[in-house]
Amino acid sequence: MNPIKHHASQEERDSLQAEAHWLVDLHNKGLRTEGLGSGGRRGGAGPSDDRAFRFGDQTVMLPTLNNPAEHSPYSLVQSDAGLSLKYEGKTLMVLDSVARPKFYDLATEDGIPYNKIAVLHGADVLASTVIQSCIRWTPKDRCKFCAIGHSLEQGSTVARKTPEQLAEVIQAAEELDGIKHITLTTGTPNETDRGALYLAACVREIRKVSRLPIQVQCEPPDDHRLYQVLKDAGADTIGLHVESFDEEVRRRMMPSKSEISLEIYFEAFEKAVAVFGRNQVSTYVILGMGENIETTLEGCQRAARLGVYPFVVPLRPLSGTLLEHTSPPSTAYMEEAYRKVAAILKEAELSSEGSSAGCAKCGACSALPAFEKLEAAR
Ligand code: SF4
Repeated sequence: MNPIKHHASQEERDSLQAEAHWLVDLHNKGLRTEGLGSGGRRGGAGPSDDRAFRFGDQTVMLPTLNNPAEHSPYSLVQSDAGLSLKYEGKTLMVLDSVARPKFYDLATEDGIPYNKIAVLHGADVLASTVIQSCIRWTPKDRCKFCAIGHSLEQGSTVARKTPEQLAEVIQAAEELDGIKHITLTTGTPNETDRGALYLAACVREIRKVSRLPIQVQCEPPDDHRLYQVLKDAGADTIGLHVESFDEEVRRRMMPSKSEISLEIYFEAFEKAVAVFGRNQVSTYVILGMGENIETTLEGCQRAARLGVYPFVVPLRPLSGTLLEHTSPPSTAYMEEAYRKVAAILKEAELSSEGSSAGCAKCGACSALPAFEKLEAAR
């Protein structure tokens, strides 16, 4: 999504405003697809229970398989122009479904389908959870919003992707499907490097076959020198996901992960920005878990001033998580939060576009890029 560079007319601003509103509302209420289009997956880390669509000039992940989507007022209808997005029967716009990538039809020599090693996120991001297990995945300790263990239980992925497997799949996805950047995330395998060393090994191997920008995502490692190790391996950006800036919410939603305090995260942000640069470090901030919004916005502002992009997303009540029957935050709440975070980003001179790789760059799980565009059009 390109920020508006010229002086936007009232009509352009109204159209951006309407698109941003529908997007927030769609993320909240989901979409009934009535069996149309392709793709979608259940379980796993990152976006799941959803599907990728082209929405105006942005790619978005819209919930299609979770509880709210089943009763959504939004639906898809096949029309002469393509797939029409309808709200309570009224046509809003034409949507393009992102096609199933060609690399999904391939398998390694020992018969592992490529899409058990990495999947397409959005329209052009190749994403993999390199270690699909997590020391926190126990009934008592697991993060309540996370579904990382489910895709493993369902057999839709492999527990540990080798660096060689990842390089093989990335080469094919780049050649066959034109992917533009790579996101490597990991469950937490230990409480020392927290997966950073394995991520570095994966990036090193990928660099033998691809120059595409790579984001790595992990908990803050105990040794700050590991940021440089990741950078030297060839990573371009890093995601250090705080999940919430409200300590009470963190304790309630992440009984184990919240032992890593906010102060440790802020220290990690500083160290990581010193290595990767401003706008090349991001953090996931999930809204709708009962957080104090002022505390949350203060956290976003503090992170942004350090050069960290706060990637704000609504809670997605994913099937199989402990929050699967929770309602997502209201559209009005999210719109207000997005507006304020977009203003914070502008003040800190951070943007989705300015990020080289990963979630902040992709933006498909959030309406924040749409609000950045609105903010730029003021
Ligand atoms: S924003 Fe991140 S998690 Fe969501 S589709 Fe894009 S790369 Fe995947």
